[in-house]
Amino acid sequence: MQKLLILGGTTEASAVAAMMAGDKRFDAMLSFAGATRAPRPPPIAFRVGGFGGAEGLARFLQDRRIDLLIDATHPFATQMTRNAAQAAAMTGVKLLVVLRPPWTPGDGDCWTMVSTMAAAAHALGPLPRRVLLTIGQKDLAAFQAAPMHHYVVRSIDPPDPASLPPSATAISARGPFLEADELALLRESGVEVMVTKNSGGLATQAKLAAARTLAIPVVMVQRPAPPSEGVLVADAAAAAAWLEAHAGTERGV
Ligand code: NAP
Repeated sequence: MQKLLILGGTTEASAVAAMMAGDKRFDAMLSFAGATRAPRPPPIAFRVGGFGGAEGLARFLQDRRIDLLIDATHPFATQMTRNAAQAAAMTGVKLLVVLRPPWTPGDGDCWTMVSTMAAAAHALGPLPRRVLLTIGQKDLAAFQAAPMHHYVVRSIDPPDPASLPPSATAISARGPFLEADELALLRESGVEVMVTKNSGGLATQAKLAAARTLAIPVVMVQRPAPPSEGVLVADAAAAAAWLEAHAGTERGV
């Protein structure tokens, strides 16, 4: 039996975990960072919280005699991805990285590409606007530098009030989101511009279609560089194929 650790917090990680449930060839565990207060419980064993850097993860892999590591964290979870690569290198555990493709603009889209949250705040311009922020909770403070705007902040858990710009309305919601609901949100909140990270994936892309329909411009924060270590695949089905290929191999082979 192969021991598998899945680094999660994404749809893809949950999909791989669901495929592992009941598969007797694997002893699989899903790991959550603990960023979301109430993650949906998966159908396999799971743990919550950091490992203590790359060294902590390497110790965990060795102590638990893990054979296979799947990094299916979010495209913007750069620290964890770095740690996974280092821990795999330290221990010889085989590493697969699941990285969903980024969104790309289509006809009718009006996207401004930026590479940092500070640049996103700057791109909103000097005149007051109503802004939808769908960037999670970690980077909200960057928008304190642009206090002339009113922000509608949507995140899974409520944001830390200290991180918010002075004029902000917080909405807690967890995807997947439907286009009709996104249209209603944009209309009812009077949103004039949207800021989002280029997360990719189906669960949260309806907001982009809604923005297109309403001719609302989007400030798109580009992804960090993809990892260069490990085998890279784009989705859970490709991860399943990689697992099939490793189902019969022993640790260190
Ligand atoms: P990060 O900056 O790359 O990671 C920060 C630290 O959180 C890591 O060093 C690690 O702590 C811990 N950590 C992250 N993912 C973990 C996991 N799956 N299991 C155990 N510990 C984990 O990541 P982040 O941006 O804070 O994201 C945290 C989690 O939220 C990830 O699981 C990610 O997939 C999910 N998520 C992130 C975003 C985003 O936009 N960043 C969006 C949706 C979901 P130690 O060093 O102590 O091990």
